[in-house]
Amino acid sequence: MERDTEGVRGFEDFGADVFTLDKMENKLDRRHFESLLATLHGGAALEFETADAVAAAMMDWAIERGADRYTHWFLPLTGSTAEKRSSFLETDIKSGLPILEFSGKALIKGEADGSSLPSGGLRATFEARGYTTWDCTSPAFIKRDADGSGCLCIPTAFCAYDGAALDAKTPLLRSMEAINRQALRVLRHLGETEVRRVVPTVGGEQEYFLIDKQNFLRRKDLMYTGRTLFGLPPAKGQELSDRYYAATPHRVLNFMHELNGELGRMGVPCKTEHNEVAPSQYEFAPIFESANLAVDHNQLTMEMMRRIADRHNLTCLLHEKPFAGVNGSGKHNNWSLLCDNGINLLKPGKDERGYRRFLTFLIAVIAAVDEYAPALRMSCASIGNEHRLGGNEAPPQIISIFLGDALQDELERFCTGSEISIHQKERMSIGVSTMAELFRDDTDRNRTSPFAFTGNKFEFRMAGSSQSLGLPNTVLNTIVAESLSKIADALDAGVQLQKVLCRTYRNHERIVFNGNNYDKNWAQEAKRRKLPLVDNTVDAIRCMAEPKNTQLFVRHGVMSQEEIFAQTEIALQNYATAGKIEAMTMLKIARQSILPACVRYSATLSSSLSCAKEAQVFCEAQRTLLTRLNKAMSECLTATDELEGCLKDSVLTAETVRDVLTERMTALRNAVDRLESMTDKSVWPLPSYGEMLFSVI
Ligand code: ADP
Ligand code: MG
Repeated sequence: MERDTEGVRGFEDFGADVFTLDKMENKLDRRHFESLLATLHGGAALEFETADAVAAAMMDWAIERGADRYTHWFLPLTGSTAEKRSSFLETDIKSGLPILEFSGKALIKGEADGSSLPSGGLRATFEARGYTTWDCTSPAFIKRDADGSGCLCIPTAFCAYDGAALDAKTPLLRSMEAINRQALRVLRHLGETEVRRVVPTVGGEQEYFLIDKQNFLRRKDLMYTGRTLFGLPPAKGQELSDRYYAATPHRVLNFMHELNGELGRMGVPCKTEHNEVAPSQYEFAPIFESANLAVDHNQLTMEMMRRIADRHNLTCLLHEKPFAGVNGSGKHNNWSLLCDNGINLLKPGKDERGYRRFLTFLIAVIAAVDEYAPALRMSCASIGNEHRLGGNEAPPQIISIFLGDALQDELERFCTGSEISIHQKERMSIGVSTMAELFRDDTDRNRTSPFAFTGNKFEFRMAGSSQSLGLPNTVLNTIVAESLSKIADALDAGVQLQKVLCRTYRNHERIVFNGNNYDKNWAQEAKRRKLPLVDNTVDAIRCMAEPKNTQLFVRHGVMSQEEIFAQTEIALQNYATAGKIEAMTMLKIARQSILPACVRYSATLSSSLSCAKEAQVFCEAQRTLLTRLNKAMSECLTATDELEGCLKDSVLTAETVRDVLTERMTALRNAVDRLESMTDKSVWPLPSYGEMLFSVI
């Protein structure tokens, strides 16, 4: 049954703060509206006059909704969003009186003093100019402040003075155009002549932790780096699997309700929410949208999660691995291709033509992932995700595809020249007569695969929880555009479809793996199949600039050589800087909090020992405790000095962070954790893992 959302609690306000097309239509005259549609749907350049009319309509609407400021809202390569708010206020030159004004020029182009944003050498500091340009495919929206007032946010792309992209959005938009072009070429050969546009769709499931804010404020490591740099595991963790899907604490439900309300008003369609496996970990999933919108909306989701948590005296942790030994957080990027006539190209069609279409696009994705696995791995490489990937909780670093046995068998049959057989779902019985009969899904789930087919879409599970989904989708769109272009080239040259597809599948079937990706034997098997293993972040980042990948991005007009080098440079720089900040944070905490606390506890033990000696009673326990503590303190001090020495002596590049610093940091962490295990809890200066993970229940 379907019904509309009108009058349904929680939906009254959905999209109220988004300047949607129908609102625009109401405010614009026909001519301007049609001219805008020509830009939106047909890709025509936006006329100045139309831009003026749209700007006036936008301001009018924003002011009606209580927003008196506007900003170009963009995604610089910091991984978060940027904005610079301006008032609509201007001074009338003639009368000198204040007026409200928003011109087409101000809508289309903003100038950001971009020298403080990462540019990867594309721009020197003295060349400060950066531009933001309106992305009319992502609607403007109002972001509310705590007092209810608002700011009109205009999604924009951000580029340097010479037009080079300096953000996550521009390459994404270009990659969407690339895949549209190539998908249409293939569809024409399949006889799908009515499709005019193919759009990649994305649903990004977001994992996160919520902890009590008071505990957060006492952990400088969480504050400065997003993760705990010290801490012993609690006596109870996630072993009992009693948290997954369990009833959510009321405090957290209140947070979720407010989040859904605020996001809903900004047009982010929230769909599911639940407890995750680790204590204090949760997941949020929206309804899928066009890739561009989904990336913007995921960014908004993260921002709102942080803000709203704060209002509930909670802190939202988006880091990929906030707690060692406890499951980390990722962002599952569900991805498919949607035609403007409603066909999902990765959904097995019901008739022969639909099934052939599905197999064509499926095989294109398989080929793309096999051919460009390192590029995909690169798109998720960050210092935070490094701690998560490869653990037995997150996808391993070897990329493979899960199809499920049924689908793999079908591909096999197809390649041996059998007729296409439309697969019938199997009936399944639960053994209780009062329960409805179910049909078994063709594929079971495989949680261990980094890239899994889930019935009508692929789920790319490598992305980190804090990163923008821009780059993973840019890469995904581009590599699939490439394999579609190869298929289209062969079809153009008159090769028969079946032949092209079988050849493509045979060349790339090594990437398909339906087994347990956590199994040790898989690594061996992957090696035998010659699948690439990029086992560290720095190498993964450097994959981007390899000639094969650069040529790919340049060929499809997604990124220029300079843009790729700049992105690589920024990613390496971020890795090195984040590593340095983590090391400095450790040093501060060890020297200023941990060691002094241990000295105090040592003094307590010493005086107990002296008293016992004086009283001539047995005092071996005090002696042993004190000896052990003093020894561990001395080890901790040595590890601290060594880490400090390393920071002083070496020029910190991404490579030195990876090869030298990380090892010293681990040594210091081990020393501090040992001290935690033997120190009086009442003097220990940091909230423990147990306190942080089990206080919101
Ligand atoms: P699970 O946790 O089992 O993977 P969820 O229901 O939590 O599944 O999330 C599935 C995600 O996939 C949702 O965000 C959903 O909108 C998205 N999704 C569903 N269909 C598509 C599609 N065709 N393209 C992209 N994403 C999709
Ligand atoms: Mg999922």
